[in-house]
Amino acid sequence: MTAVFDRIAIVGVGLIGASIARAAAETGAAKSVALYDVDAAVRQRARELALGEVFDDAAAAVAQADLVVLAVPVGAMAAAMQAAAPGLKQGAVVTDVGSVKGAVAEAMRAHAPAHVFLVPGHPVAGTEHSGPDAGFATLFKGRWHILTPLADARPDYAAAVDRLDAFWHALGAEVERMDAARHDVVLAVTSHLPHLIAFNIVAMAEDLESVTESEVVKYSASGFRDFTRIAASDPTMWRDVFLNNREAVLEVLGRFSEDLAALQRAIRWGEGDTLYDLFDRARRMRREVIEAGQDTAAPNWGREN
Ligand code: NAP
Repeated sequence: MTAVFDRIAIVGVGLIGASIARAAAETGAAKSVALYDVDAAVRQRARELALGEVFDDAAAAVAQADLVVLAVPVGAMAAAMQAAAPGLKQGAVVTDVGSVKGAVAEAMRAHAPAHVFLVPGHPVAGTEHSGPDAGFATLFKGRWHILTPLADARPDYAAAVDRLDAFWHALGAEVERMDAARHDVVLAVTSHLPHLIAFNIVAMAEDLESVTESEVVKYSASGFRDFTRIAASDPTMWRDVFLNNREAVLEVLGRFSEDLAALQRAIRWGEGDTLYDLFDRARRMRREVIEAGQDTAAPNWGREN
């Protein structure tokens, strides 16, 4: 493959940063990869894993890069941008992978120099694991990558967005462009609220006095364990998501709470048709997810037990 960028720099070498480094090297989407992480132990691990050329300073890491990817928690984007800013070269494309777009775009804009092209983005791909060892080259394959370009009137801006689009395609992703506010509402529904519910259910089960913790663990295969997988996600990442997508999450949560109250009433009054109709509608949605290639139709998600 012809490289889309000569040199990329990744700031933050966790699950996502390490996956980009591996995917870029494996696909040839970039000729070379520079890395920086605020954590010295992570930098050391990135060297051991040979993920790219590791620097002890953010500005030095980005100095030669045509593409800079900020792959840090949402709440650390401003600090990462600020640290990288003095090293950014003229005309570099600067993107991020944050799970929230409106707040992150603001944080990046506040600290980026005028001579770069800012194109925020979000890979709708991930696992519940974090850190450099969790990264793998095929993470983005067949997954959506959402770009939320800014209203930047410079003539070369569109070409910068196209180039970033081509980079993510090269890593195997499908690319969609969207307004940041739209992204934040859509993801509040598809990702943020489901995570909040999972965190809540798992924490609640731990607190319930009528059921012992050992019983919860023992019988977890009946549904609970799938929530525990989602609830195993990184607490820093998720704290930052909720602090930075507050409005959209509160709006969706309000609607969810109302609907939950209606379900509660249907159970209390024995309204079987109401329950059946809702469950049937939900099941149809599952079929659509499978048909869209977003999950497997194998029984039990393809697991052996
Ligand atoms: P991660 O595995 O926890 O890695 C983040 C790394 O960034 C950590 O090593 C962290 O170090 C480092 N870091 C923090 N502040 C920094 C700074 N100012 N400069 C340089 N490095 C810094 O996180 P991740 O799962 O890869 O997530 C990264 C981003 O991707 C987040 O914004 C998240 O919202 C987004 N995202 C995640 C997923 C997912 O499934 N995990 C999916 C899509 C998008 P410390 O640990 O020492 O703070």
